[in-house]
Amino acid sequence: MAQESALNYLSHGQIPFFRLPQAPGEVPPGTRAVLVGVPTDLGATYQPGARLAPWHVRRVSALVQGYHPGHRLDVFARVPAVDGGNVAFPPFDAAAMREAVEARAAAIAARGAVPFTVGGDHSITLPILRALSRQLGPLAVVHLDAHLDTSGPEIWGEPFHHGTPFRHAIAEGLVERGALFQVGIRGPWGSAADDAPSRGHGGRIVTADEVAERGAAAIGEEIRRALGGRRTYLSFDVDAVDPAFAPGTGTPVPGGLTSREAFAILRALSGTTLAGMDVVEVAPPLDAVDQTSNLAAHLLFEGLALLALANP
Ligand code: MN
Ligand code: MN
Repeated sequence: MAQESALNYLSHGQIPFFRLPQAPGEVPPGTRAVLVGVPTDLGATYQPGARLAPWHVRRVSALVQGYHPGHRLDVFARVPAVDGGNVAFPPFDAAAMREAVEARAAAIAARGAVPFTVGGDHSITLPILRALSRQLGPLAVVHLDAHLDTSGPEIWGEPFHHGTPFRHAIAEGLVERGALFQVGIRGPWGSAADDAPSRGHGGRIVTADEVAERGAAAIGEEIRRALGGRRTYLSFDVDAVDPAFAPGTGTPVPGGLTSREAFAILRALSGTTLAGMDVVEVAPPLDAVDQTSNLAAHLLFEGLALLALANP
């Protein structure tokens, strides 16, 4: 399940993630990673558009080659991977989305493979964590984001949207106590209590300023050591990265990570046991010259490289 040649991808009417073989809704024997899209932005509180990300990230991922020179490994030779297509559901039904995403993540994990999911807004993460933790137990979570995403229903009168996944994940016991790492956090909060759900669960909050002060590699190294051998879910909200590098997102916050810092953090997690990864909140209609979709494709590649490193 290596990448197709650069010439072959041009003959496709549709480009699969990373020019990988396509297996919609399936997990072929021997597969280690399944890339899936979740075309929804029903959870967006501000600007929509993330539902289009799976198509755009696929298109630009055709340019991402398979050898990682930093880790010195051929990622897709180590990690047999397929494009599992998109999760399908009525595009106006958030509850149906959550059910369908949970079922797909569960089916992938049941076959011993690891889901790499492209949102969609951040509301897709809760059903993935539900499915994975049911099979694997409570997970360590590394969450890169400008926002804590631990809001409650008091703001919109709706318990499930892109500002709430980690509140539910903590309350439902999906996240191991003391094993939540939220990186890139910044911007004005609603109140002083916004970090209470994370801190009450022993979470570590790393602001974007702390990344700049201490260095991204040092932060990544601290998290890697703290994770130990725990099974880890990596949730990357692209708005963790500064709007200068990632303008195509619905709730941008200035003062974020550089794309280089984001890569340095992920590379420093080398040796981490990944249970799954998502990249969410890429909104192509708000993007400029594909730069946010392009960033998302490279972030996914870094996550796949982490799985490859743990898969000799
Ligand atoms: Mn965010
Ligand atoms: Mn988020």
